[in-house]
Amino acid sequence: MGFALLLVPLFILLFGRYLSTKIEYKCSKCGCEFKISTTATLLTLQQVYFRLLKCPKCGENSWCRIVRYKDREVIAKVRQIDEKTKTNHTVLLFVLILTYLTYIAIWILKPNYLLLAVVTAIFVYFAAIVVYAARNGYNSSLYLILIFVSVLLIGIIVFVQSIVILTSG
Ligand SMILES: [Zn+2]
Repeated sequence: MGFALLLVPLFILLFGRYLSTKIEYKCSKCGCEFKISTTATLLTLQQVYFRLLKCPKCGENSWCRIVRYKDREVIAKVRQIDEKTKTNHTVLLFVLILTYLTYIAIWILKPNYLLLAVVTAIFVYFAAIVVYAARNGYNSSLYLILIFVSVLLIGIIVFVQSIVILTSG
């Protein structure tokens, strides 16, 4: 079980690497077409045919459309959600850290290393996405939804563990 869990990050990493070599994006500001790194593939936001990226040529951040997959033309069938939200990365990171610390406080009462590994992995991954966004100046309301999902995930685990602790006496 523990060993199988170790394979999940490895699989995600390989899948991200595979995608980064196969997909080409087009900057909505200058029209430049480019591929992105595995890191960018794993840490940036995606809306079906669009990804929030910094253009390597003009340096502008925008939702860049996927133009090619495996050298074949991709036609966008849906538009991306247009939004001008300013993301407060610090607050989002703070909420994440607070959620994680709450988990640790509950975890200490009845330590379970497998769950700790899962929650830590969720925390580290989502925190990495927020830090990456802050460093690149990516703004989107989707980050808020992302943090909400991670808090919900960790919250469910905290809730279930609390019940287990309370009922086991
Ligand atoms: Zn550009």
